[in-house]
Amino acid sequence: MNKNFNKKLSIVIPVFNEMESLEELNLRITKALSGLSFDYEIVYIDDGSTDNSFKILKKIKERNPKIKIIQFRRNFGKSAALNVAFKEANGDLIITMDGDLQDEPTEIINFIKKIEEGYDMVSGWKQNRKDPLIKLISSKIFNFTVSKLTKIKLHDFNCGFKIYRSEVIKNIEIYGELHRFLPVLAYEKGFKIGELKIKHNARKFGKSKYGKLGLRRIKNYLLDPINIILLTKYAKKPAHFFGNIGLLSFGLGSVFFLYLTILWLLGHRPIGNRPLLFLGILLIIIGIQLISMGFLGEIITRQNSKKEKIYYVKK
Ligand code: UDP
Ligand code: MG
Repeated sequence: MNKNFNKKLSIVIPVFNEMESLEELNLRITKALSGLSFDYEIVYIDDGSTDNSFKILKKIKERNPKIKIIQFRRNFGKSAALNVAFKEANGDLIITMDGDLQDEPTEIINFIKKIEEGYDMVSGWKQNRKDPLIKLISSKIFNFTVSKLTKIKLHDFNCGFKIYRSEVIKNIEIYGELHRFLPVLAYEKGFKIGELKIKHNARKFGKSKYGKLGLRRIKNYLLDPINIILLTKYAKKPAHFFGNIGLLSFGLGSVFFLYLTILWLLGHRPIGNRPLLFLGILLIIIGIQLISMGFLGEIITRQNSKKEKIYYVKK
C-alpha cells in the first residue's frame, strides 16, 4: 500500500440482532486497523434490534471515540440502514461489512490496495461461500441473471463486504431491496468497478436474517430482472419502456381490426360476435393506457431530473 496514504476510512456495519458477535467483531476490526497509519471511524447502524445489540454497541462506543452509532426505531432493512450510514460516514473511503463475523476484517487492507489500483468501488467475492446449499444455488442464479442483463462482470453482486470512494455513495440513494444492486447503480453512473476474492466464515452466532433457506430473498429474485431493466435502461426514459409495449399491443389490436374489416367488406357478416373483435378492443385500450402511462412517467422524470443529476463529470 502507498506509504503516503493519508485518507480517512469509514467502516459501515448494519446490525440487526447480532449481540453475540459485536464485541469480537469490533475487537477484530480495531486489531486489523491498528498497524495502519490512517484515521478511521466505525459506523454501526442498529436496524431495530430487539436483543441487546444496542446496549453492547453503546458500551463499545464508550471505550472508543472513533465509533458512531445510529439507532433505528424499528427494523427498516439493510438498504435503509446503509442509506443513512452513507450520509453519516465522512471518510474518503467507505467499507461496508456484515455484523455477523462472516466477513474477515483482515481483508480491509486488501480492499484498500485494490482501490489504489484505480477502482471507484470494489466488491467482495465470497468464492468459497460458507452458507447453506439452497442459498448458494439461489445466489448463483441471481448473480448469473444480473451479470447477463447488465454486462457487469461480477460474481457476487450481493456481497456485504465492499469498498467505495466517497463520491460513489454520496451519489446513490438506496431503499427497499436496492442494496443488492449497488454495483449496478454505481456502474450506471460511470464508476469503475473491481472485484476482490475474500475469505468467508460460517455464521458463528445467531441466525441469518433472511431465513434458513433465504426465502425472503428468493421471493425478490422473481422481480429482479424487471427491476434491473427499469433501473438501468429505462429509468431516465419511461416513455420508451411503456411506449414500446403499448405500441406493440395497440399495433396487434389494429391488425385484428383491419383483418375483421376486410372480412366484413368481403361480405363475411356478422363480425360483432367474433372473439377476435373483443381481443382487438382489449389490446387497443391496453396499448393506449400504457402509452399514456409512459408519458406520465416521462413528465415525472423530467421534473425529478432537476433534482437528481443525470450525468457525472469525472474531472
Ligand atoms: N441486517 C440488517 N437488517 C436486516 C437484515 C440484516 O441490518 O433487516 C444485517 C445483519 O445484521 C447482518 C447483515 O445485514 O449484519 C447481513 O445479514 P445476514 O447475515 O442475515 O445475511 P446472510 O449472511 O444470511 O446473507
Ligand atoms: Mg451473514
